[in-house]
Amino acid sequence: MTMLKIRSDLHTHTTASHGKGSMEDNVRAAAALGLQKIAITDHGPAHLFGVGIANEKVLLQQKAKARQLAPLWPQIEILVGVEANIISPDGRLDVSESILEQLDIVLIGLHPRVLPASAGSAKALVWQNWLAGFPRFQPAAIETNTAALIRALERYRVDVVAHPGLHLRIDTLALAAAAAKRNVALELSAGHHVEKAYLERVLQTPAKLVISSDAHRPEDVGSFLPALKLAAELKIPALRILNASS
Ligand SMILES: [Zn+2]
Ligand SMILES: [Zn+2]
Repeated sequence: MTMLKIRSDLHTHTTASHGKGSMEDNVRAAAALGLQKIAITDHGPAHLFGVGIANEKVLLQQKAKARQLAPLWPQIEILVGVEANIISPDGRLDVSESILEQLDIVLIGLHPRVLPASAGSAKALVWQNWLAGFPRFQPAAIETNTAALIRALERYRVDVVAHPGLHLRIDTLALAAAAAKRNVALELSAGHHVEKAYLERVLQTPAKLVISSDAHRPEDVGSFLPALKLAAELKIPALRILNASS
């Protein structure tokens, strides 16, 4: 089985959200593996229970920190981004546009346990997804979740959709078609979402992929193996994966 080589890890967390290491710990780990780029993408501030960053200004502090680190780590490029949360069914994110514009990479994700933008958003995103535990309510939740993601792609400059379908059910085919149109990549998360059916659906569209670790500990930075195995099994060409080389 020939496996692709991944040049950069575009999804990692630090202690600014609920990761275990510092920015420099992640950079050190990535540099030790010979990666060309490492992205720091902590959870947006609407993530509850201490999972998210304290507020969106933290992202600018991280940008400043990355600028300090850059001369110490000339062998690797440090990107600062965010894993922003969708907080309304019409695709609002929990980071303002003026901050997003200053970041190097923007990931968006649908997560449970996120503070919605309003009571109406709570009903659509939280209550519907809770009901989706019952099969007859699943189609409505899938429709709402997918539409929210697609609206976010239309509203913001997004680079990657993180682990589509991991926590909340979606229509992968519809999302992938919309992502392809807007040149947004879908993630194949080596950390926790290596699902063949998902990948097969994405491959039915022209959407691009990125393989990321979603590392929450420095020792997991650059760990791509389960995703690489699945990509090899499905014979995905390197060209299809933005951060791969053959
Ligand atoms: Zn996530
Ligand atoms: Zn993540």
